[in-house]
Amino acid sequence: MTPGHIAGNPAKLTAQQRELIELAGTLGREKFAPRAAQIDRDAVFPFDNYADMRAAGLLKICVPREHGGLGADFATYVMVAAEIGRYCGATALTWNMHVCSAMWAGFIADALDMTAEQRADHERCRAIHFRRVVEEGKVYAQPFSEGGSAAAGKSPWGTVAQRVDGGYLVSGRKIFASLSGAADYYGVLCTLDKPGATMRDSLYLAVPSDAEGVTVSGAWDPLGMRGTVSRNLDFKSVFVPDEARMIPEGLYFQAASRFPHMFATLSPTYMGLAQAAYDFTVSYLRGEMPGTPPVKRRMYPTKQVATAEMRIKLEQTRAIFLQNARDAQVDPDRDTRMRLYAAHYSIMENSNDIARLAIRTCGGQSMLKTLPLERIYRDSRCGSLMLPWTAELCVDRLGRECLYEPGERDEEIVA
Ligand SMILES: Cc1cc2nc3c(=O)[nH]c(=O)nc-3n(C[C@H](O)[C@H](O)[C@H](O)COP(=O)(O)OP(=O)(O)OC[C@H]3O[C@@H](n4cnc5c(N)ncnc54)[C@H](O)[C@@H]3O)c2cc1C
Repeated sequence: MTPGHIAGNPAKLTAQQRELIELAGTLGREKFAPRAAQIDRDAVFPFDNYADMRAAGLLKICVPREHGGLGADFATYVMVAAEIGRYCGATALTWNMHVCSAMWAGFIADALDMTAEQRADHERCRAIHFRRVVEEGKVYAQPFSEGGSAAAGKSPWGTVAQRVDGGYLVSGRKIFASLSGAADYYGVLCTLDKPGATMRDSLYLAVPSDAEGVTVSGAWDPLGMRGTVSRNLDFKSVFVPDEARMIPEGLYFQAASRFPHMFATLSPTYMGLAQAAYDFTVSYLRGEMPGTPPVKRRMYPTKQVATAEMRIKLEQTRAIFLQNARDAQVDPDRDTRMRLYAAHYSIMENSNDIARLAIRTCGGQSMLKTLPLERIYRDSRCGSLMLPWTAELCVDRLGRECLYEPGERDEEIVA
């Protein structure tokens, strides 16, 4: 039985979307899926997959066309990411970190308010970053987590950038930095070092991985997403030139406030994992899973009910995923913003739930390490832990926005 299309009905897609999803599917089936078990077992970065994506042009997917990229929009990117996630979660998730650097500097920055001077400066800086990706195939990472409340969007970054002649000196520590030791540039979120700095003074700087003062430390031996190799990064007075700015000073805060879909790019990977868990179940119950005896289990009514429940959950997840993909824009209205939290929460939580149902439905032999399902299950567990929008924080934000108008406060209760 041929597995379904990640976007449901491909007839509704643009020609570019259809082509890129097909390209990602071919790479995923033929290259990424066969390598995924080893990458997971050894917790190593998927360098070979990156070489394939580079050759296929996927590293420049969100670089604007006028800079030599594929110029994909938000909806196109998330559908392609989900397709890759079907075959290797760690590849899709790390690719997200890389693609976001071009997306943030590209169409998201285009949608923001800038002075003419800022716009000119941004054009000059981003041309350098885009050229590295397009002409040299360089890879960017996106370390922002620090272990405090900054990655949750609640306080300024502890990593600081001190302005010096011709650039900045970056100092601080990032944790869970996917692509550590693998990326060519770390897109570091940090705070401009000045008295009374706030979240409005955030900076997004590309630090070369081989710059003096950059070190990778710590181990990476997690439950799932083992191929992301998300170790610690230390920056000790690392000099970067002015051109390291990936968006102008002060503009990250505007982007985070006005283009919230920029944080919803982690979930497509988990949409792909949900689809993979469902595809596995169908294939396994039909006795068609490679590496298992051709024993059919589909005739048991309980299996049919369980598979139907999985399909219903999968379609609910896909529906909100696609709606969200098409909703992305600057200054979304309140309902769109709330649907975005609901989408992100649903994809992350349902992905793990569908993988759980898959193991329960298929049974003990399905979770052997010789098969992909147990890896899908472990990988899917990681989604709702990822900041800034963990499942808890989505619920927090959504609950508040459901019940309060912007700026509205409760009267103080006098005892
Ligand atoms: C596979 C994987 C890859 C990752 N890759 C990257 C990466 O490339 N770059 C990167 O920057 N990070 C990355 N992360 C890190 C991720 O985003 C989190 O920062 C990380 O999981 C640490 O989270 P924590 O649960 O320890 O955070 P904690 O700060 O300890 O938070 C624990 C929980 O408390 C809640 N919480 C946290 N702060 C608040 C608050 N202020 N108010 C209310 N509730 C709060 C949240 O629900 C959170 O889940 C990755 C994580 C994983 C699992």
